[in-house]
Amino acid sequence: MASYSDILDRLRRSFSEGKTRPAQYRVAQLEALGRFLDENKTELVQCLKKDLNKSPFEGEITELSMVKSEINLAINSLSSWMKDEPVSTNMAMYLDTAFIRKEPFGVVLIISPWNYPVQLTLIPLVGAIAAGNCVIMKPSEISQNTEKVLSEGLARYLDQDCFAVVCGGVEESTRLLAEKFDYILFTGNPTVGKIVMTAAAKHLTPLTLELGGKNPCYVYDDSDIKNAARRIAWSRFLNAGQTCLAPDYVLCSDKIKEKLVAALRTTIQDFYGEDPKQSPDLGRIVSDRHFQRVASLLKGGKIVVGGQTDESERYIAPTILIDVAESDPVMQEEIFGPILPIVTVSGLDEAIQFINKREKPLAAYAFSTNSQIINQFLDRTSSGSFCANDGIMQTTIMSLPFGGVGE
Ligand code: NAD
Repeated sequence: MASYSDILDRLRRSFSEGKTRPAQYRVAQLEALGRFLDENKTELVQCLKKDLNKSPFEGEITELSMVKSEINLAINSLSSWMKDEPVSTNMAMYLDTAFIRKEPFGVVLIISPWNYPVQLTLIPLVGAIAAGNCVIMKPSEISQNTEKVLSEGLARYLDQDCFAVVCGGVEESTRLLAEKFDYILFTGNPTVGKIVMTAAAKHLTPLTLELGGKNPCYVYDDSDIKNAARRIAWSRFLNAGQTCLAPDYVLCSDKIKEKLVAALRTTIQDFYGEDPKQSPDLGRIVSDRHFQRVASLLKGGKIVVGGQTDESERYIAPTILIDVAESDPVMQEEIFGPILPIVTVSGLDEAIQFINKREKPLAAYAFSTNSQIINQFLDRTSSGSFCANDGIMQTTIMSLPFGGVGE
């Protein structure tokens, strides 16, 4: 088996020869990636089922079709993205032309997590191919079935002189990170993000970090409670809560708390039936370690919906917690599981104070029928993205940028 430096040498040689530069080459690789998705759809969907118990519908909508849309966007936009961008000159340069030329970086490393193991590996890949780079991908070892299909399958579709998949966990990642790359795209948790950034700093390699955090969701008194409950429950419990953009906790006043809990209870029953464990639509926690971590967050606060667990299946029922204190474990870290704590606040001002005391979240949500409340929330908080009266739907708008702010 080739060593990492052999793989890098191979990719670097192809890059220096200019293999990835022509637009036709980039389009051909993007089309090959599309064929990989189409021709291996059944296998990919089965792997997502094995790794995370994603239903075929969920696997297709939240993973495969997201990558397909990204491929289409890249192919349709490529010629305009690649064009030199003219800029205006000044008096001294009056007769000259000035422009910005878009250049590929070189060899890019993509390190991805297990929660959306297909799209979080392949969407960065689409960008890297479109920009004319060679790429080494390191999918998560935890979603092991998907890791296997990606590593074996992609090699049959993409040009092996320019694209490679490396399997493994911390040890392999660490060895890879010791090598010099020209750009690193990392998605994962903030602790590992710091390790990746430190490794990149040694080579002064530029990087993009897509991390996690606790996303607040404020429900104002005048909200359409039934609608809010359905949209919050859908976005929180999708993929068993293992979504970086999911609402992590709810802030609302005491006045509407009971009504909101009742609406969430009805919604959970509606979505997952009397016994959510039997539902084909509810995912499972990805590993025993993560199951232990998420289950331990059930201590603290009062369980008013759900709370059941089954370690043998890594099952945790969609759970609503009330009477949650700021000091409870569930409020100390990103939950990344099917638990939704509700914290009561007196009103909008206290909700905003509560949010602004913490790290800036990856996403923030507010529910209200009054646009002034929404606008005040938006003006006085800061987050990677914001969505009013819905959860995580902002990610479906392809022309919006994606990312966090600060940590
Ligand atoms: P993780 O950080 O544990 O793992 C991500 C990748 O890093 C994996 O490929 C893993 O093998 C590698 N890795 C793990 N430890 C490492 C180490 N010590 N040195 C080098 N590499 C190492 O993340 P995860 O648990 O797979 O994913 C969950 C996290 O990802 C959550 O915090 C979530 O919010 C975040 N996330 C963010 C986004 C986003 O777009 N912002 C999307 C999905 C997930």
